[in-house]
Amino acid sequence: MNRELTKALWSDALEFFRQAGENRVEPSYALREDLAGLRIYEEPIFAVAGAGDVMFEGLKQEHAIGPHYLTPKEWLPSALTVVAYFLPFSETVRRSNRIHPSHPSTEWQHGRIEGELMNTVFRRYIAAWLREQGFESLIPGEDPRYQVREPVSSNWSERHAAYIAGLGTFGMSKGLITEKGIAGRVGTVITSAPLAVTERPYHDLYEYCNRCGACARRCPAGAITPGPNLHSCKSNPACGDFLQPLKDWSAAGGDTRPPEEQDEYRPEKMRIRFGCGKCQAGVPCESRIPRQRSE
Ligand code: SF4
Ligand code: SF4
Repeated sequence: MNRELTKALWSDALEFFRQAGENRVEPSYALREDLAGLRIYEEPIFAVAGAGDVMFEGLKQEHAIGPHYLTPKEWLPSALTVVAYFLPFSETVRRSNRIHPSHPSTEWQHGRIEGELMNTVFRRYIAAWLREQGFESLIPGEDPRYQVREPVSSNWSERHAAYIAGLGTFGMSKGLITEKGIAGRVGTVITSAPLAVTERPYHDLYEYCNRCGACARRCPAGAITPGPNLHSCKSNPACGDFLQPLKDWSAAGGDTRPPEEQDEYRPEKMRIRFGCGKCQAGVPCESRIPRQRSE
């Protein structure tokens, strides 16, 4: 376990993050003039999982992800650790999506599209940094073996890897609640580097969720039904059914911004812009671990 190497990685990754132009909306792509230069993320948090953690093997069980799931060592035989990070959406992106009950805010759509580009750039920076130090690194989502099974089950899960790394626990909405909340994006890199493994500060898959049900009340699709068993509260098909028409409409050049903003229609900017995220904004776990409710 190499603590110095781990510290150097975090330090350089944070410096890269602070300088990254991709964390701002490029003016020519801004969907509203005032969104030119919009900051997408606040500073990330990091954690490291041991590649041989038995929890990865456990994800092959049917009730978890399934036998199609590949463990870190199946992706990269030399793997020793998995780097996980969480990029929290900025206050502007989060606040904007609290307002309209069903339309994703324009800022949120930037977070979803430009935000994922920044996430890609950040993953690649970490992978390249590790390679420069002489280690192997692999990003499962960019590997030819990566597969998504409909409706939403792939052979690698960044949220589960982040959970195993100690970055956060799941919520009723199935997002990952971290110390910086649930609204943001997760990234992972598998590596042969002997990084210092993070001690998980929790014991249960849903420990940080206080079961308040706010995400269920916010969901315009009725895809979340509060109940004692958090494994089955969220219906991925119902969530997908809500998102699919928006995706199709957007792919056909439709304007998915809130109605009051649809004054200046620019289809070339709107293409493939859709989203929802109502279960992640305006909820107690939006930007922190929520207070547990008193019994
Ligand atoms: S809104 Fe409440 S119930 Fe839903 S994930 Fe957050 S803490 Fe859990
Ligand atoms: S993304 Fe939207 S539709 Fe899907 S669960 Fe969250 S609030 Fe519901």
